[in-house]
Amino acid sequence: QVRVRFAPSPTGNLHVGGARTALYNYLFARSKGGKFVLRIEDTDLERSTKESEEAVLRDLSWLGLDWDEGPGVGGEYGPYRQSERNSLYKQFAEKLLESGRVYRCFCSNEELEKMKEIAKLKQLPPVYTGKWASATDEEVEEELAKGTPYTYRFRVPKEGRLKINDLIRGEVSWNLDTLGDFVIMRSNGQPVYNFCVTVDDASMAISHVIRAEEHLPNTLRQALIYKALGFPMPYFAHVSLILAPDRSKLSKRHGATSVGQFREMGYLPQAMVNYLALLGWGDGTENEFFTLQQLVEKFSIGRVNKGGAIFDSTKLRWMNGQHLRALSPEEFTKIIADRWKSTGILRESEGTFVEEAAQLLKDGIDLITDADKTLSNMLSYPLHASLKSPEVKPVLEDELSEFSAKLLAAYDSGELLGALEEGPAGWQKWVKNFGKLHKRKGKSLFMPLRVLLTGKLHGPDMGASVLLLHRAETCDVVAPGAG
Ligand code: GLU
Repeated sequence: QVRVRFAPSPTGNLHVGGARTALYNYLFARSKGGKFVLRIEDTDLERSTKESEEAVLRDLSWLGLDWDEGPGVGGEYGPYRQSERNSLYKQFAEKLLESGRVYRCFCSNEELEKMKEIAKLKQLPPVYTGKWASATDEEVEEELAKGTPYTYRFRVPKEGRLKINDLIRGEVSWNLDTLGDFVIMRSNGQPVYNFCVTVDDASMAISHVIRAEEHLPNTLRQALIYKALGFPMPYFAHVSLILAPDRSKLSKRHGATSVGQFREMGYLPQAMVNYLALLGWGDGTENEFFTLQQLVEKFSIGRVNKGGAIFDSTKLRWMNGQHLRALSPEEFTKIIADRWKSTGILRESEGTFVEEAAQLLKDGIDLITDADKTLSNMLSYPLHASLKSPEVKPVLEDELSEFSAKLLAAYDSGELLGALEEGPAGWQKWVKNFGKLHKRKGKSLFMPLRVLLTGKLHGPDMGASVLLLHRAETCDVVAPGAG
């Protein structure tokens, strides 16, 4: 059975890189009918926080990546926090000690430093050369009797190569002679990170380890521990880094990088998921629009790229627009209504204003927050003000002053507002009549009308804009930023 895991360290927010790793694990599990496990790697007690764990869980849920086992869900391989699994690590460490794959090392820090210095002088790799790898039982007993602190050190084969077949990178191999015996348990009894991960992956029956490329050096140590414990090795798949446009490692200085930031900026989870999936994967066609369900159907780990993927926030924004427009009118209206209510733009929830506004604005925006700006732009030119605004006048040619005077007259007499009261049909009838009366049609009618009525040369459908503006002026809507 396919069992994969996402194993975040709760030391900060969920970043796009972590979210993509979680997504690939999720897609792999779902596409194979397997299990997606969530494990919290909180062995670093100083840096791990409960808030961070909660934030990571919230962000994963927001993205729709529900886990089958893990915090909040439980499961038969729990507990799912490393801080609750200490006895297990201890048990496996003892097992390795008994079988001789691990030995007690009584070297002091000074001795270890000296070893490193000597290695450096001789230009040799900093491998452990202390005597405890080959100490006799008597020597060990003597130190134990004295109460000398000791670590558990893993016995690495002194020659040969270790090879794995990475599902993304192909064959990856390491020379063992430069590794040196490494510590798996500190003298205070704290197990070391690589050891915990291996014990967890093995005892949670993880079949595929899909994680970031930066963990590749850990894989060597983990594979050796796997072998020593006698567990079957999982498949490994190391996903490339996410890079900034300048090909450096993506970091905070490049702008928003955490999932929570994008949520607050008005991004949709389905757009995030779609974009993250495409950062290093494609289905082999030109198609770029996928729902989570479609991704589950199409995903294959073999199609994940080896090269680094560039994080392009412009494309993510565009992708968000695609997903906004894919929503049903009801879903889209609800999103707009929730936003405008929370920002105070909309004072009353009832009424059709928000529905009309949503449909008008939908095609022209990529982010929900863009709708605020468009609305704010519109409302900053109330009908009566636009008509009289000295700012829009110079845009028009002189010969239009007569036209604008007539339009103003139509407004002042209440004729235009009366037509607007009758909705789209009333507006259309009025426009036709007005054009006929003043011998204008097509562009020569609509361009000056637009400028005079909306204060702008371009924008969404003019009739709809004007009607909406009129509606906004007669119902309880506050221009964004007007308070
Ligand atoms: N806890 C590690 C991290 O947050 C992941 C380790 C792994 O996937 O093996 O980067």
